[in-house]
Amino acid sequence: MKRSAAGLAAILTLSVTIRGGWQDPQKRPVQRVATPALVERSAYLMGTRVRLLTWADSRFDGLARLEHALTTLEQTEAELSTWRDDSAIAVLNRSPVGSPWSASPAICRMFAVLSDWQTASGGAFDPSIGRLIQAWDVHGQGRIPSPADLAQARASSGFRHLDFDAVRCTVTRRADVAIDVGAFGKGEALDRVEQRLGDEPWMVDFGGQVSVHGVPPGRGEWPVSIAHPLDRQRAYVEVALRAGSLSTSAGSERDLFVNGRRIGHHLDPRTGVPAAFGGSVTVWHRRALVADIMSTALFVMGPDEGLRWAESRGVAACYLVPDADREVSMRATTAFRRSVLFSLETAGR
Ligand code: ADP
Ligand code: MG
Repeated sequence: MKRSAAGLAAILTLSVTIRGGWQDPQKRPVQRVATPALVERSAYLMGTRVRLLTWADSRFDGLARLEHALTTLEQTEAELSTWRDDSAIAVLNRSPVGSPWSASPAICRMFAVLSDWQTASGGAFDPSIGRLIQAWDVHGQGRIPSPADLAQARASSGFRHLDFDAVRCTVTRRADVAIDVGAFGKGEALDRVEQRLGDEPWMVDFGGQVSVHGVPPGRGEWPVSIAHPLDRQRAYVEVALRAGSLSTSAGSERDLFVNGRRIGHHLDPRTGVPAAFGGSVTVWHRRALVADIMSTALFVMGPDEGLRWAESRGVAACYLVPDADREVSMRATTAFRRSVLFSLETAGR
C-alpha cells in the first residue's frame, strides 16, 4: 500500500507530522527489487488512540508485523490495566496487606525500573498514588477532596508502603496502597513491541508517545513533531528521530475544572495536590518506559526544578512553557539539543 505524502501526514495529525518527500524519486533506493510498501493500522487501547506504521516488502508482511505489535500492546494492557479486575496489577492492588504478591518476570523487571525512578525523581514520579488519583477523581470528572479525605489518601499513597523484593520478585503492600499505571503503562507496552518485533522499520504513536525502530527506506530518520503545549492538534516543532521513544506529558488536553479550579491529571505525590505547571515536557530516551516515567516526573517538577534535575543527570528533556499571553518558549537540556534538536525546524508556531 502506497500513500501520498499528504495521506501519510493525515494519518499522523494528532501528535506526529510527517513532512513531505516520501514519494520523491530522488530519495528512493536505486537498485531495490521490491518496492517497499507503507502499511498503517490504528486502534484504541489503554483509553487512547494508537497508530502503527511500518515499511515492508509486501502489504501482507507489513500487516502481519503490525498485527504482532498490536497483539503485544493488547497483552500488555491485559496485564497492567486497572480498569479490568483480572489484570496482574488489579490483583496486586487487591492483594492482602502484608502478604507477598508474586510478579511475573516481566512485571518484576518493570517494577525494578519503577522503583529506581521513583527514588531518582525524589518522589515526583510515584506509581503508588492510586488512592490520591481516586481522591481527586483524576480518571473521572475531577473532585476537590475534603481535607480529611485528602489526608487519608495521602496516608495510603507512596512507594514507602510497598516492599519490592527484586530477588524473589514479590511485591508486598504494607498499607492499602494502589498502583496507577497511567504514567508508565504505554511506555512498558512500547518497550515490549521493541523487544518482539524484528529489525524492520516501524513507528508507533501511542497516545502521543512515539517510538521508532529502524528508518524508513531511503531516509535517515523518522520526522516527528512535538505538539504545541496549548493545542495538541498543532505541531510546535519538528524533530528527527532515529531510535528510541519521545514521550510528552502535557496539561492542556485532559485537564478537569471543578468550581473554577483546574485539576490537571498530574498529581504531585510529594504534596498530594495537582501539579501547577501549564505547559508540556517532552523526554527522549532509548527505553520507552523510562521516557514515559521521566516526562511525568518532569511535568510534576515543573521547568525550574525539572531542568536542573534533568541537566544534572544528562536527561534529554524539553519544556514548552507558555506565558500569560500564550507565547511559548522552549527550554531544552543539552542532551535534548544534541540528540533530538540537531535538525531543528520550527513549524506552525
Ligand atoms: P499521558 O497520560 O497524557 O500520556 P503521563 O504519561 O504524564 O501523561 O501520565 C499521566 C498519568 O499518570 C495520569 O493520568 C495518572 O494516571 C498518572 N499520574 C499522575 N501523576 C503522577 C505521578 N506524579 N506519578 C505517577 N503517576 C502519575
Ligand atoms: Mg508518563
